[in-house]
Amino acid sequence: MTYVVTDACIRCKYMDCVEVCPVDCFYEGENMLVINPNECIDCGVCEPECPAEAILPDTESGNEKWLELNSTFSAQWPNITRKKDSPADADDYKGKDGKYDAFFSPEPGEGD
Ligand code: SF4
Ligand code: SF4
Repeated sequence: MTYVVTDACIRCKYMDCVEVCPVDCFYEGENMLVINPNECIDCGVCEPECPAEAILPDTESGNEKWLELNSTFSAQWPNITRKKDSPADADDYKGKDGKYDAFFSPEPGEGD
């Protein structure tokens, strides 16, 4: 089991999660973060820290797609361990449906 970041993170990127992860297993894309499932120790500390409720256990049904996305892109994007400023318009996208189809980007973020 692992925790995964879902599309609820897209264009929100509040980054409260990266501050609490004891093993620094978050990776930064252009407009969302992902967790490396091989590094996550399933402590669950990040889940309640996310204001967008974007972090879920992969054991919940329907999360297979997010597990695959987290696995794929954590291998390509840079590690991020420190909270940075979130986008100025982050709140406009919080809780919106269909963000993956509308806004997902495979491009990497800047990392630490
Ligand atoms: S706290 Fe939630 S919305 Fe913010 S970067 Fe982490 S997973 Fe994404
Ligand atoms: S569950 Fe724990 S180890 Fe996994 S990403 Fe969240 S804080 Fe890090």
